[in-house]
Amino acid sequence: MTSVQDRWGRRLGNLRISVTDRCNLRCQYCMPEDEYVWLPREEILHFEEVSRLVDVFIELGVDKVRLTGGEPLLRRDLPRLIRLVVAKPGLRDVAITTNGVLLAAQAPDLRAAGLHRVTVSLDTLRPERFTALTRRTTHGEVLEGIRAVTAAGFTGTKLDTVVIRGVNDDELVDLIEFAKTVPAEIRFIEYMDVGGATRWSMQNVVSRAEMLDAVKGRYGGVEPVIEVTTAPADRFRLPDGTVFGIISSTTAPFCADCDRSRLTADGMWYLCLYALAGTDLRGPLRRGATTEELKSLITGGWTARTDRGAEARLALRERTPLVQIGRLKADPHLEMHTRGG
Ligand code: SAM
Ligand code: SF4
Ligand code: SF4
Repeated sequence: MTSVQDRWGRRLGNLRISVTDRCNLRCQYCMPEDEYVWLPREEILHFEEVSRLVDVFIELGVDKVRLTGGEPLLRRDLPRLIRLVVAKPGLRDVAITTNGVLLAAQAPDLRAAGLHRVTVSLDTLRPERFTALTRRTTHGEVLEGIRAVTAAGFTGTKLDTVVIRGVNDDELVDLIEFAKTVPAEIRFIEYMDVGGATRWSMQNVVSRAEMLDAVKGRYGGVEPVIEVTTAPADRFRLPDGTVFGIISSTTAPFCADCDRSRLTADGMWYLCLYALAGTDLRGPLRRGATTEELKSLITGGWTARTDRGAEARLALRERTPLVQIGRLKADPHLEMHTRGG
C-alpha cells in the first residue's frame, strides 16, 4: 500500500476516530470544568459516514484505526461500527481506548464484533483517588471491566496511566504489578498541556527519567526494548521479562515519526493533537463529494503537514496550558475529549 507523506516524510498511517465527545468521567487533567458545550447531535457522523471516510483514508495509506472519544462505549450500538471497520481488508490493527466504566457489560460484544485490541485508561488502583481524580465513584466498574477484557478472549491489552506529581506518582510499581495479573502491558503517559488540561503546570509533570528511576529503584536493571516502530511508547523490560512503556509526550516528544491524525465525532480532521485548526470532512461528505474529491482534500492536507506540536511546546521557555478556558468554551474542538486522546 502506498502512503501519502507529509513535509517531513511522515506517512499517513494511523487514524484515531472519536465516536463521541461525551464522557461518563470528569478526569481533572481532561474535563475539569462543571459544564461543557457538546457537539450538536445532528452533526455527529453516522456509522456509514465514518465507514466511508475510513475507506478513503485506507486508500491513502491508513492501516491502523483506533476508536476513542470522549468515552467511546457511550456511543450507542458501537459494535455495529466495529463490524463495518474490521471488515475492511486494508486494516491490520483496529483498537479502542476506553475508560473501562462500561467495559464489563460490553467486552463480549466488542470481541464478537471482531475488535482486535483494547486499551483501558487506569490512573490509580485506589478507589478514593479515582473519585478525587474523576469526580465519579465507578472505580470498581473499571477494574471489573479490565478483567472482562481478558475473560472475553482479548490479548494484547494495554493499560494507560497519566502520571501526575502528587496525585498518583507513588503507584507506578503497584500498577506494574496489577498489569501482570490482567495480563496487560502498562504504559505511563507524561501529563500533557493539551486542550482541556487547563490546570496543567510543568511542576506536575513527572518526566520519563523520573519514572524510570522509580521503577529501577524497585526492580533493579531496566533494559530498553530495541524496536523500530512509529508507536508513541518507548518500551522497557524488567528483569523478570515484564514489559512496560513510557509515553514521554511532554519531555521527549516523538513527533519525528508521527503517523497519526484525528477525526472528531462530527467529522473534523486534525493533523496533530496540538493543532488549533482542522479540516471539515463532514461538509463535503454530506454535500455528496466523490471519493476522488475526498482523497484530494485529505492528500492536500497531509502533504502540506508540518505539525510537530509537542516539540514546539517543548521549545517554549515559559509554558502554560495550550489553550485558555475562554477559548476552549468557544471552540469545543480544541478539547481533548472532543479530539480523542
Ligand atoms: N475516555 C477514554 C479514555 O479515557 O480512555 C478515551 C478518550 S481519552 C481523551 C484518551 C486518553 O487521553 C486517555 O488515556 C487519557 O488519560 C489521555 N489524556 C487525556 N488528557 C490528558 C492529558 N492532559 N495528558 C495526558 N494524557 C491525557
Ligand atoms: Fe477522562 Fe477519557 Fe473522559 Fe477525558 S475522555 S474525562 S480522559 S475518561
Ligand atoms: Fe504527532 Fe502532534 Fe503528537 Fe507530535 S504532538 S506526536 S506531531 S500528534
